[in-house]
Amino acid sequence: LCGHISEKTFKFVIVGGGIAGVTCVEQLSSQIPSSEVALITAGPHIKAVTNYKQVSRTLEEFDVEEKPSSVLEEKYPNLTFIQSGVKALNTQSHFVETTDGRVFGYEKLCICSGGRPKLLTQDNPYVLGIRDTDSAQEFQKRLCKAKRIVVVGNGGIALELVYEVEGCEVIWAVKDKAIGNTFFDAGAAQFLIPSLEADKPEKTAPCKRPRYTTEEPAPGASQTFTAEPGSALGPDWHEGIVLRGAEQVRQVSVEYQCEVEKIFTSEELLSSPQQTLRPKTEGSWPVYVQLTNGKTFGCDFVVSATGVVPNTEPFLHGNNFALADDGGLQVNDQMMTSVPDVYAAGDVCTACWDHSPLWQQMRLWTQARQMGWYAGRCMAAHVLSEQIELDFCFELFSHITRFFNYKVVLLGKFNGQGLGPDHELLVRCTKGQEYVKVVLSDGRMVGAVLIGETDLEETFENLILNRMDLTPYGEDLLNPDIDIEDYFD
Ligand code: FAD
Repeated sequence: LCGHISEKTFKFVIVGGGIAGVTCVEQLSSQIPSSEVALITAGPHIKAVTNYKQVSRTLEEFDVEEKPSSVLEEKYPNLTFIQSGVKALNTQSHFVETTDGRVFGYEKLCICSGGRPKLLTQDNPYVLGIRDTDSAQEFQKRLCKAKRIVVVGNGGIALELVYEVEGCEVIWAVKDKAIGNTFFDAGAAQFLIPSLEADKPEKTAPCKRPRYTTEEPAPGASQTFTAEPGSALGPDWHEGIVLRGAEQVRQVSVEYQCEVEKIFTSEELLSSPQQTLRPKTEGSWPVYVQLTNGKTFGCDFVVSATGVVPNTEPFLHGNNFALADDGGLQVNDQMMTSVPDVYAAGDVCTACWDHSPLWQQMRLWTQARQMGWYAGRCMAAHVLSEQIELDFCFELFSHITRFFNYKVVLLGKFNGQGLGPDHELLVRCTKGQEYVKVVLSDGRMVGAVLIGETDLEETFENLILNRMDLTPYGEDLLNPDIDIEDYFD
């Protein structure tokens, strides 16, 4: 990059048009409207947060829409949109170089390049990861001809996928003792399992979130769109796409506590001398998956939903970024990486400040928005030589979502994360209706899982934030005959 002359130098350059990048741009543009901001992103679309609603002090809900970049440019005259991937970064000279050979200077840079699916194997045509609209459509195309698929992974994407797929046999391989281990304990999993067996309720209510628009890219732009990684999908990514296989019914079998040992094609399997590789099931399939529990399953294709890897590569060469164990760019409580004038937000970064005892990072929409917004505020404060303190949203982990058609609210250390053995659990469960779990440590509520229409989120959030000693209330906390809200008024 040394010999390059930059086309233009911007005060702020943001890389990535996902939720983190777009929120950061919006924050900077509204805070310092006179400053020149550039958003560089690989595709023609950006992700916009709409219908933002603060549900309580820390809980928030919003819709996400994929929009053409012009929407942002019209709104913010100071913004220049550059549609190209970033292929290199020179942090010493403060330049980024794009895949189409242009070079842009920055005063302050924020990397919001998201993550990509951690695939079981690279370049295997029978293994699919779901990350963006393109890969979701590829999945749908393959599914309509499929009789059986193997889903590997136990996070949010696998959970939703297994529930949403219809007309196909699903073998679901999870490494834990229970489904949804990232979000739940075994009790909650037990509560949800019957939903996999029951018929799904008819979707009568109109879809709450708008569908993802997948307008045709502008002429000449499609190449870039498919060649570069797109933004991650978010909640309800499956809305608007029919996830139906070639069979009449859906049948889900869960294989617990196992991982993938090996993936074979049918030819490899037939030539294998090892009898153990012979699949338990009849028939001939394009691909076979051998699990660590010794079982082998044939299927039409495998969905790898085992998490994401932060998209850091283009930025690392020649620079000295401190990386976290999960591969993310380490950021401090000012969203600054270890390199001067470079910030990061969203899935690409790892929060390395001293966390509040009630917060943990999870690569989710809400955190991408919060980090992008807070990074924008930090960048603005720093150019104005102002001090800024870690925002309140990082005080308590909170997340609202839907799994298996139930409303799900997660608060604080909802799974007793990092608490050791001396914490207590209180559980109330009504089959098919609600599951309420409270995590207590030292008599204080430190986390909760609320599944169903429990209406307890705000009260519990207050109880957690107040750090009140709840020992005198004992199990009455979850007594359905007591109106807990009145109780603490
Ligand atoms: P992304 O949205 O991934 O955006 C990254 C942007 O950077 C993209 O625009 C990309 O094109 C661009 N980019 C990447 N590399 C470069 C480069 N070199 N140069 C230029 N641009 C680049 N979260 C929830 O909270 N709830 C859910 O229900 C949920 N469901 C999900 C379902 C699926 C299938 C997936 C994949 C994720 C889901 N998530 C969910 C997670 C959520 O989508 C992510 O946490 C969030 O989108 C991260 O936002 P981000 O802005 O950091 O990154």
